[in-house]
Amino acid sequence: MVLRLSTHLSSSLPVASRLDKKIPPPQNTTVILNYHRLHQAGVDVHACSSGDFYALGVENFRQQMVFLRRNSFKTLLLGEFLTLPASENSRNVVITFDDGYESDLTIAVPLLRQLGFRAVFFICVEHIDRPGYLSRDQVKQLLASGMSVQSHGFFHHDLTRLSYRKAVEELARARLVLERMLNTKISYLAIPGGFTNERVLSAALAAGYEAICTSLPGLARGGRKLNRVAIRRSTTQPEFEAYVRRKRIPILANSLRYRGASRLKQIVGVNHYEAIKLRLWQRKRKSLGLEK
Ligand SMILES: [Zn+2]
Repeated sequence: MVLRLSTHLSSSLPVASRLDKKIPPPQNTTVILNYHRLHQAGVDVHACSSGDFYALGVENFRQQMVFLRRNSFKTLLLGEFLTLPASENSRNVVITFDDGYESDLTIAVPLLRQLGFRAVFFICVEHIDRPGYLSRDQVKQLLASGMSVQSHGFFHHDLTRLSYRKAVEELARARLVLERMLNTKISYLAIPGGFTNERVLSAALAAGYEAICTSLPGLARGGRKLNRVAIRRSTTQPEFEAYVRRKRIPILANSLRYRGASRLKQIVGVNHYEAIKLRLWQRKRKSLGLEK
């Protein structure tokens, strides 16, 4: 009997080790939602500039948050997600806001608090105290309201154009300025403009950040580099619901659109790309009779 058991064990070992190689260790995943500016109903920010394609009406944002609440989603901060036991891999999202717009505090925070949600606000140091953006006091209020404040760099520019040394210096400076201002540890960076490459990622780690949020759409799977799904004005409610329910096809379609747009941006340059986007948007509005 003992002999038969040991024979069985020894013959099963190679199979088990083959399986170990094929199956990755259990890993937590989540959807990190990426918002920018929110605007009140009736304010047509699209008519202003191409940079507002990420601006979302407050009613759309409210509808999305209410959907999360009604469907028992939990909101995690980044540190919570990164240390979550794999067994708790369920209905959760991380909500992030980039750039440090004033609407973070005037629109987003009251609604988030009302629903018992928390979010991560990535602040770009050069935006602080500018019109339309948060002041120093308001950034402090974000933190005092139970939200997480993290870094969106010092300048809102393309870090891939900097040398490794310059990128490390600039990102470390942003972290230190925010840490001194808020008297709290800053551990995460959202890369400004989503312009990234391996040099920028390693510069961010050398500058003292523990993990980096990119603009590449996809599920976040832990580790140092975290995908996010941007929610724009054009994002429909069914699309939003599919993203937070982690439906592969809509997330993949979003990722392919993003990669196509990035490729076009590389070929024609950022300014031409933004001009093309604006022209297409104006043409669409004209066809809908919204613009003369
Ligand atoms: Zn930004």
